[in-house]
Amino acid sequence: PGTLYVVATPIGNLDDLSPRAARVLAEVSRIAAEDTRHSARLLAHLGVSTPMLSLHEHNEARRVDTLDAYLEAGESIALISDAGTPLICDPGFVLVRELRVRGRHVVALPGPCAFVTALSGAGLPTDRFTFCGFLPAKPGPRRQALEQWQTREETLVFYESPHRIVHTLEALRDQMSERSVVLARELTKTFETFLQGTPEALLVQLTEDPNQARGEFVVMVAGAPPVTQSEHQNIGADALMKVLLDEGVGV
Ligand code: SAM
Repeated sequence: PGTLYVVATPIGNLDDLSPRAARVLAEVSRIAAEDTRHSARLLAHLGVSTPMLSLHEHNEARRVDTLDAYLEAGESIALISDAGTPLICDPGFVLVRELRVRGRHVVALPGPCAFVTALSGAGLPTDRFTFCGFLPAKPGPRRQALEQWQTREETLVFYESPHRIVHTLEALRDQMSERSVVLARELTKTFETFLQGTPEALLVQLTEDPNQARGEFVVMVAGAPPVTQSEHQNIGADALMKVLLDEGVGV
C-alpha cells in the first residue's frame, strides 16, 4: 500500500518550501489539495505536473474512501492546503484520523506554519502557549471566547482575517486592556511587520496607518499575570468554606 504524506507549503515566500516537500510533491501519484486552482500556481513554480484532486471541508468525508482505495492500490498521495500546514485551521483532520483508524501509513513533513513563525519572532513567552484558532466572528460569541481565555497565564495565539482585526483589537481593549499584544502581519512576505503594544496603542497605530490593517495576521496576547500567593490562599479558604457548608458542618 501507498503512503499519505501531509505536506506543509509556503505561507507567502515560495522559497520556504523544503527540498523534501518538493521531492514528495513530484514523486507521489496524486496530490489532494484544498483548492486545486490555487495550488496549480505552486506546482507550476516547482515544475511539478502531478495530478491533483480537491479535498476541502465540504467533500473531505466523502474523499476518504477514494483516497484509501488509491493507497490500497499502492499509490502514494500528498495532502496540501492553500498555505501552511494542513490540519492547522485547514482541511485534513478527518482524512488523517480515518486513515490512521484503517492502519494506513501516514507521514507528516514539517514546514511553514503561521503561528509557529509568529511565536518564534514575537518575543512573548513560548514555554507554554495556547493556540486558539480563529475567534468567533460574531461579537457575543467572541466576547465569551475571550472571557474563557482571560485568566490563562500562558501566551494566547489567534488567527485573524484582515476585515476583523480592528474588531478583535477592540474586544481585547475591552477585556484584556493591560496586556501586551503582538500582531504578526504578512509573515514571510514583502510587507512583514511585527507590531507590539497594548490593544489601545495598536488600534491607534492601525488607525494612523491603515496599511497596517491589511493582509494576514497572527494575534498573540501575553498571558494573565500569575495568581499571587495570597489570592491562592483566599481561593483555598473559599473552597474550604464551600466544602464545609456542603457537608452541613455548622460554621
Ligand atoms: N494552515 C495555515 C498554517 O499552517 O498557518 C493556516 C491556515 S488559516 C485558513 C489562515 C490564517 O493563517 C490567516 O487568516 C492568518 O491568521 C494566518 N496566516 C496565514 N499566512 C499568514 C501570513 N503570511 N502572515 C500572517 N498570518 C498568516
